[in-house]
Amino acid sequence: MKPIQLSIIIPVYNEEKAVTKVINDIKDTVSKIPDIEYEIILINDGSTDNSLQIIKQIQGINVLEHSRNKGYGASLKTGIRHSQYEWIIIIDADGTYPVTAIPELIKHTDNYDQVIGSREKKGNAIPLERRHAKKFLNRFAGYIAGRKVPDLNSGLRIFKKDIVRAYWGLFPTRFSFTSTLTMVCLSHGHDTKFIPIDYYERTGESSIRALDFFNFLKLIFKLSLFFKPIKVFAPLSGLILMIPLILAIAYLFGFSTKFFDTTIIVLSATALQTLFFGLLAEIVIHNK
Ligand code: UDP
Ligand code: MG
Repeated sequence: MKPIQLSIIIPVYNEEKAVTKVINDIKDTVSKIPDIEYEIILINDGSTDNSLQIIKQIQGINVLEHSRNKGYGASLKTGIRHSQYEWIIIIDADGTYPVTAIPELIKHTDNYDQVIGSREKKGNAIPLERRHAKKFLNRFAGYIAGRKVPDLNSGLRIFKKDIVRAYWGLFPTRFSFTSTLTMVCLSHGHDTKFIPIDYYERTGESSIRALDFFNFLKLIFKLSLFFKPIKVFAPLSGLILMIPLILAIAYLFGFSTKFFDTTIIVLSATALQTLFFGLLAEIVIHNK
């Protein structure tokens, strides 16, 4: 393996119960990797518990602070902005991700721009209520990206900092940072590898409902519009076109006595517009 320089970025929002162990485990694991130069950056995202006091006691890390709670994506962006190395590792401060998988992720940086720890192992602790939404999002993202996406929004991964820099404005301050990064890489030719990892029960409460219905819809919208819009709008246009087609056929074969001319015209025009909208979105993206 080539020598590697990397910044490990850990967002912290009310993680007083878990954060110390996570940091110690990371130090233990990473210091044993040969030929590595690294820094650990913690972002205290306006915690209201004792997280800040606790992490200020920890030696050998950089602590950055948000004056108020700005969100997961904002924490990562602050960390990335202040990082000094070419490669970035992100991991949660809640003890859910296996720190021991980090060396394995690093191993693949010789051949990839991004390596994602994919929570696909049996018996992982992904909460039941999130499972179906997650499965759907992975499938939908896979359809858009044109390849299998086993874990769209894993929070343990290593990637080249330049990728995020190049698409900085696209990255949100709240929760879809990781989904966005996965899709940016898959749809813009940055080589990405998924490696199966474990996923544990969280220590302490999750501060978000990462896949509540509104966020879920927002993400579907974003995936549809920002990456390969024609893959969504062309089938949608086809689907709309089916209705006037069925109406016309029903009339021709005598199943219906009334010829719904206005309905047929309006829906055909809508289908055409939907298709053109998709093409236009496609052009906008490729001109960025
Ligand atoms: N986090 C943050 N700001 C927030 C919410 C969360 O910095 O507004 C941190 C949190 O402490 C954790 C990571 O971001 O280290 C991911 O959050 P969480 O574990 O609550 O999300 P989940 O893994 O449940 O999707
Ligand atoms: Mg978490």
